[in-house]
Amino acid sequence: MKDRKDELAANLAQVEERIAAACAAAGRAREEVTLIVVTKTYPASDVRILSELGVRHVAENRDQDAAPKAAECSDLPLAWHFVGQLQTNKVRSVVGYADLVQSVDRSRLVTALSKEAVRQEREVGCLIQVALDAGESARGERGGVAPGGIEELAGLVAKAPGLRMAGLMTVAPLTGEYAGRQQAAFERLMDLSTDLRRAHPAANMVSAGMSADLEEAVAAGATHVRVGTAVLGVRPRLG
Ligand SMILES: *Cc1c(COP(=O)(O)O)cnc(C)c1O
Repeated sequence: MKDRKDELAANLAQVEERIAAACAAAGRAREEVTLIVVTKTYPASDVRILSELGVRHVAENRDQDAAPKAAECSDLPLAWHFVGQLQTNKVRSVVGYADLVQSVDRSRLVTALSKEAVRQEREVGCLIQVALDAGESARGERGGVAPGGIEELAGLVAKAPGLRMAGLMTVAPLTGEYAGRQQAAFERLMDLSTDLRRAHPAANMVSAGMSADLEEAVAAGATHVRVGTAVLGVRPRLG
């Protein structure tokens, strides 16, 4: 256990150094970027260690794994982010522990999240997941709404009781015009965020960048980076 703590501390320090360097290179203050550690596939004991090491934001992408982990860690001062594709039949469970859902991508999900947030007397921050590889009206392979669908969805979230319109999230596309062009993709997300904030000024979170491309995300202006592998190691199984 001591070894694991040393390992996670060393990895965190390296990631911290990368974020700080990326902020410096972009002329941004370090405080403008929040690290979210993606703990999917790793045990609650790792989450506990991360909390001891000062991590305040964690993310999960599968409710089956996240729900018991969040329950085991409910004594820790952590914000839980849900970042996976979310089926409406999992919404009741997810609203029980998630402070933010970053993968909001359709109106049915907004309705379900709102209903549960009200029922459980919770406030859930919502990020609209943007699929930059989708056509103007289609949905992305890995979830997300096409840029043309953001405005309508944001309006629904803003009006929905129990929900707070918090911002935008994306995963750099593997295919299409942005394949291999992470920074261009993240800059496009920033432009979409600027548009969004005209109608929803408080929706200022921009969640972009993972272990492989956090520098590009920080350069583009991301406020939140979601880092898994670089902190916890290569995942034991697909997650
Ligand atoms: C797994 C995951 C991450 C973290 O990816 P790494 O490459 O391990 O840093 C970030 N965002 C989402 C949506 C994920 O599912």
